[in-house]
Amino acid sequence: MRDKALPEDEVMAILAQTRARNYSYDRFLSTMCTLPHPIAVRAHDMFLETNLGDPGLFPGVAELEERVVAMLGEMLGCPDASGYVSTGGTESNIQAIRAARNEAGRKDGNIVVPASAHFSFDKIGDLLCLEVRKAELDESLKVDLSSVESLLDERTVALVGIAGTTEFGQVDPIEQLAEMAVERGIHLHVDAAFGGFVLPFLEKKYAWDFSVSGVSSITIDPHKMGMSTIPAGGLLFRGQECLSALETETHYLTKARQASLTGTRSGAAAAATYAVMMHLGREGFKRMVDYCMDLTHHLVAGAREIGISPAIEPIMNVVALQVPSPAKVREELMKKDWHVSMTREPNRALRLILMRHMTRENIDLFLEDLKAILIHSQF
Ligand code: PLP
Repeated sequence: MRDKALPEDEVMAILAQTRARNYSYDRFLSTMCTLPHPIAVRAHDMFLETNLGDPGLFPGVAELEERVVAMLGEMLGCPDASGYVSTGGTESNIQAIRAARNEAGRKDGNIVVPASAHFSFDKIGDLLCLEVRKAELDESLKVDLSSVESLLDERTVALVGIAGTTEFGQVDPIEQLAEMAVERGIHLHVDAAFGGFVLPFLEKKYAWDFSVSGVSSITIDPHKMGMSTIPAGGLLFRGQECLSALETETHYLTKARQASLTGTRSGAAAAATYAVMMHLGREGFKRMVDYCMDLTHHLVAGAREIGISPAIEPIMNVVALQVPSPAKVREELMKKDWHVSMTREPNRALRLILMRHMTRENIDLFLEDLKAILIHSQF
């Protein structure tokens, strides 16, 4: 650190300069985050100093968090769900599996996840000393049920299904997974970090949330399709017992016990999530999902015109385009300031997420660039 103070305007000038080096959201096709809704930004600013790690000092924001959990629970088919606003999908997944492991009372356990699971489950295996067993996918890139069946055993502490896979936006057969979980008395966690704010607003209905008996916990991220500020994740449990399985004594704080993973945690994102959910309501979220789905169909139709098809017919606003040499195409696109990502082997493809910051006009520009790259290169 410097010895001498630097005037505020000089510090701000440095910040402005460095901020200008960030890329702009309107060229991002790779991210599941987006520009937060303006009301979320206002609410975030208003609660910047609050600490949900010590809720007795901030009962106002603690109540907002409870209201967020109640709204999410109601949206996901369990109005009296317990849970909290986490830092994102990774923390929610860690905590859901930790609760399942603690409830099962095993330290030598395993979890069974689809091969399409987010990499947070690899971190979980490492952190919680659990073996992570990956079930194969079927041809539609959903988890294969017979593969799941073959991996479950008496040491399995949790089974995971995904409602909106990171790479393909696919929805696993949650009802059938729930049957397996109930039969064996295993915790079923549904990772809907992305899909949680999409699936309730699609025309086509899927059975994936707490309305499926057997679903024990759900990850749903307000900082993805919920248009809240980062870091806003959601972790919900069907009952109170799982949350209790996460608690430790806190000794010096205003509440005797704490279930969250982090100690000090911002109340700003909880307030932002509350604000955006109240302000938009179901109709606002439906409008936003309709908009993203329109972009998705526009992109896929344009891609087909230049001879490229998606790996699966998009279910949500996630598209995997099967281009030749995806890594090289991605590199060329980056040179043109398009930020795209890729899916994993064995289904390598260009991965595109159509978030609300994207426009039809930008998709047309993107398709023109993609077409030119494919024509002029030897891939
Ligand atoms: N789960 C799924 C299905 C995801 O797509 C992601 C991130 O994209 C995560 C979990 C991790 O979320 P986060 O990056 O907020 O920790």
